[in-house]
Amino acid sequence: MKVGSNKVVSLIYELREDDANGDLIQKVEKDSPFVHLFGVGSLLPAFENALEGLEAGASFSFGIPAAESYGEHNPEVIYTLEKSMFEIDGVVEEGLLEIGNQITMQDQDGNPVDGIVLDVTDEGVVMDFNHPLAGINLYFTGKILEVRDATAEEIAHGHVHGPHGHHH
Ligand code: ZN
Repeated sequence: MKVGSNKVVSLIYELREDDANGDLIQKVEKDSPFVHLFGVGSLLPAFENALEGLEAGASFSFGIPAAESYGEHNPEVIYTLEKSMFEIDGVVEEGLLEIGNQITMQDQDGNPVDGIVLDVTDEGVVMDFNHPLAGINLYFTGKILEVRDATAEEIAHGHVHGPHGHHH
C-alpha cells in the first residue's frame, strides 16, 4: 500500500538544517514514530508530495527550501511590546521574560500565537512571532514504517485515532 490521501502513515525521520550534514533539528525514532493522516492539509504540502507513492520499508531523503516550508524569516513580525502586556495581576511571572523563551500570546482576533523573547530592554520586550523554523531550509531523511487505510471515522475527523479508538 502506498502513501497517499486518506492513508495513515507511520514514519521515522531526522530533520536537519540545509543538508544531511546540517545541524539536527528534530529526531523521531521507532519507539515513538510520527503517525499521520495524509491528504487533510495539516502537513507541509512539499512534505506530503515527497512521500507520496512510497511503501512501507522505503527510505527517503529530501530537502524543502524555507520558502516552501515555514517561509522566510520576516522582520515585520518582530515587535516590541510593553512589559505590562506580560503581567498577570500586575506582576510578571519570574523567569517568563528570559531571552529564548517561547510565550503563547493572542493576536487581535484572540487566536493563540507563539512568540520568542529576543530581548528585554527599557522600552519593552522584543518578541519574534516568526515560526521557529522560518528561514531554515529543511532536510529530511527517514523511513516509512507502515501505511494503512484510514477509517471512515478518522477521515471524517481529519486525524488519526489510536489503536483503541482513543481520542486525544
Ligand atoms: Zn477523532
